[in-house]
Amino acid sequence: MKKYLKTILATTMILSMTAALAGCGGTTDEQADGADATDSGAETLVMATSADFPPYEFFEGQEVVGIDADIAKAIGTKLGCEVKIEDMNFDAIIPSLTAGKADFAMAGMTVTKDRLKSVDFSDSYATGVQVVIVKEDSTIKSVDDLFAEGAQHTVGVQTTTTGDLYTTKDIEKKNLGTVERYTKGADAIAALTTGKIDCVVIDKQPALKFVEANEGLKILETEYVAEDYAIALAKGSELTEKINTALQELIADGTIQGIIDTYIKAE
Ligand code: GLN
Repeated sequence: MKKYLKTILATTMILSMTAALAGCGGTTDEQADGADATDSGAETLVMATSADFPPYEFFEGQEVVGIDADIAKAIGTKLGCEVKIEDMNFDAIIPSLTAGKADFAMAGMTVTKDRLKSVDFSDSYATGVQVVIVKEDSTIKSVDDLFAEGAQHTVGVQTTTTGDLYTTKDIEKKNLGTVERYTKGADAIAALTTGKIDCVVIDKQPALKFVEANEGLKILETEYVAEDYAIALAKGSELTEKINTALQELIADGTIQGIIDTYIKAE
């Protein structure tokens, strides 16, 4: 009996030591659904995302898949942790980190000065570009048309994204048009196809998917802004350094590029 107890204790200690060494123990370990943790001996990290952003994150049946989901899994494997993906609206992601409800966020999220005031970012793992989607017969021919003197366009964006931040600053604040904010990128696209708005400013990769899925839309050739995507974490999170180490290894051995190439075919 005694021996049995000792074995259990030793095993438990080894398991928790492994988890500690591996870098789990994020803010939400205790809150997270413990089933996986108990079954496999691995701890759980909760990842916040907004699964309406193909090919970075989207639903395939009940499951969230995509570049970010695959990279998160690869990082989880390196750290010896299970990754549990929580889907939410994009504007809820940063609040979920600051409230300690998620350990990290991957959502094709751009590093911005403003966001750095409330969260930390990992090293960048991909680049993105803001583009403009218009109807095929639109009078808007280039991005500069949006900023031309006397311009008065209605621009659709996903709320709190960088598309929202840039157009608010460059268009709305300068009285060059109106910005309509939608919870989901797909809702902005629907407003464009029904003629409620004149264009949508959104990241290029989801833009390509939306244009492919909707007749009569095109992406302007001139691009708006280039950006860096990174993983967001609560300020001061101990996980940031561990994630960066894992990311650098996954970049160096080609895993990240392999994942990106699976979802984005060379143009
Ligand atoms: N890259 C943009 C941003 O960070 C959009 C991200 C998204 O909609 N998932 O704001």
